[in-house]
Amino acid sequence: MRRLLIAGNWKMNMKLESAKELAQGLKEAAKDVSEVDIAICPPSLYVEPVGQVVAGSNIGLGAQNGYFEKAGAFTGELEMAMLTDVGCQYVILGHSERRHIMGESSELVNQKVRAALAAGLTPIVCVGELLSERESGVTNDVNRRQFDGSFSGVSAEDMKKCVIAYEPVWAIGTGKVATPEQAQEVHEFLRGLIADRYGQEVADVVRIQYGGSVKAGNAKELLSKPDIDGALVGGASLKVDAFMGIINAVR
Ligand code: PEP
Repeated sequence: MRRLLIAGNWKMNMKLESAKELAQGLKEAAKDVSEVDIAICPPSLYVEPVGQVVAGSNIGLGAQNGYFEKAGAFTGELEMAMLTDVGCQYVILGHSERRHIMGESSELVNQKVRAALAAGLTPIVCVGELLSERESGVTNDVNRRQFDGSFSGVSAEDMKKCVIAYEPVWAIGTGKVATPEQAQEVHEFLRGLIADRYGQEVADVVRIQYGGSVKAGNAKELLSKPDIDGALVGGASLKVDAFMGIINAVR
C-alpha cells in the first residue's frame, strides 16, 4: 500500500517572515494528520529557518533543486549534502520550470538524481509533456524519454526510494487540470515503464504524484485513481487553508 505524499512547491515566493508564518500555520493545522505524508519545499534560502519551524513535526522538508557535484568551485549552486545538512529529506528535480526556463536536460537531471540518492535524499523527479506535444500525440514518448533519461543508471533499490511527479506542463499554474482519466492514463503508463525497467515489485512501491493546478476541489477525484499517489502542489501550497484543504480532501 503506497502512502499518499502531498508536497508543496513554494517556488520563488515568500519572504523570510511570511515563509516562517506559513510553516508555523501548517504545522499547527496539520498536527493531527497521520494518514498521508506531507512535505514543503521553500526557496533554498529559507529551507533552514523553515526547517527549524517544522522540526519534530509531521511535515517533511524539501528543496527545489540541488547540484550534482561535491563541494568546489560551482558558484551559485548547492551540494546535496548541504541540503541534508540543514534537514532536507526531499529535493525536487527536473521541474518543468527548470527544464524549460533554465534549459535543464534529462542528462543533468539524471546526474542530480544520482547525487541526491547518494546523499540520502528522496528525489521528487518531475516529468511531463507540453501542450503541443500532447496535441501532436507524443505524450507517452516525451514521458518515456524523460523517465529513461532521468533515471539512467539508477539501481532498483534506489528506484524504490524515488518519487515521480507527473506534471503536464500545460496544467502547471494555468488553472487547467488534467482530467482524472487523463492523469491516470499517464500514471499507469509510467508505472508500466517502471515495471518494464525494474520489475513489478519496484513498480508497486514507487509513488507517482500528479501536479498541475491541484486544489481542494479537484484533489479527491484525482487521487482516488489507482496509480495517483499524491500531489505536487504549487499555487495552492502558499496558503494554509488551501494546502490543508487538499490534505483534508484526500485523508
Ligand atoms: C508545481 O509547482 O509543480 C505545480 C504543479 O504548480 P501549480 O499547482 O500551481 O499548478
